[in-house]
Amino acid sequence: MAFEGLSERLQKAFSGLRRKGKVTEADVRDSMREIRLALLEADVNFGVVKEFVKNVREKAVGTEVLDSLSPAQQIIKIVNDELTATMGDAAVPLNKAPHIPTVIMMAGLQGAGKTTTVGKLAKRLIEQEKARPLLIAADVYRPAAIDQLQVVGEQVGAQVFALGTDVDPREIVRQGLAQAQLQHNDYVLIDTAGRLQIDEKLMTELADIKALAEPNEILLVVDAMTGQAATDVAKGFDERLDITGVVLTKLDGDTRGGAALSIRKVTGKPIKFVGQGEKMEALDVFYPDRMANRILG
Ligand code: GDP
Repeated sequence: MAFEGLSERLQKAFSGLRRKGKVTEADVRDSMREIRLALLEADVNFGVVKEFVKNVREKAVGTEVLDSLSPAQQIIKIVNDELTATMGDAAVPLNKAPHIPTVIMMAGLQGAGKTTTVGKLAKRLIEQEKARPLLIAADVYRPAAIDQLQVVGEQVGAQVFALGTDVDPREIVRQGLAQAQLQHNDYVLIDTAGRLQIDEKLMTELADIKALAEPNEILLVVDAMTGQAATDVAKGFDERLDITGVVLTKLDGDTRGGAALSIRKVTGKPIKFVGQGEKMEALDVFYPDRMANRILG
């Protein structure tokens, strides 16, 4: 289960406080030490942990908290609020173009869940906005990526624009956008190539696609199961592409929580959606407060 270890460790840190009628600064220090370890063990970025603990400590040692009737409860609330703030406070909606089509470019490493997320997002837009998205198959390197996009397109009822694997992805995007203009599609979702790791060729290709497609959203798809590595990937892509948001996938797995808790602070970019399964309906808007509640159990 996602966040299981982190939830347990945090509950343990609080149970020490809960048992006490009167909480002292030393008790707060002890629980802060445990919270710090819990976050580090969950693979949260070191700088993020440091800031987190500092903020919570500053708020928790105030006399009003320690002298109150329920200091433990108040400290839990402070931790909850800080978790929420660390993940970005409020949900951030998709950027929309003033004139159709809104262009959404997906980027990410191979296997992160890009193609699946394109299908999920198309389904969401079709169901919630009665949209007519065009999906552009610009991942020409991974075997079967185009077929996979055709399959998900069919599943969710979205048209797929593909030119096979022998055409340059920039050309595919150019022609796909032209077709979307002709057809008055309201959304264009571009499935781009990934690699096993960030490399120059991939980044140049993505930067070129960005320049020609002028996307309203560049969503970076990252695998939550990869923890700290997901945070590094997000930083690398953001430095090169100036992404507008993140989709965190595989939150139905037993991710420790590091990616969810680090990405916003490290990149400054919001997590907009989370993937919670392989099925097309398993995409949810990311609500930092709900995620904080889930972490605190
Ligand atoms: P791409 O290489 O980035 O396009 O990745 P794919 O879309 O092909 O996804 C790679 C694998 O991850 C596939 O087996 C997907 O079914 C799976 N996957 C994608 N998103 C999720 C998710 O949110 N949860 C789970 N459990 N699996 C996912």
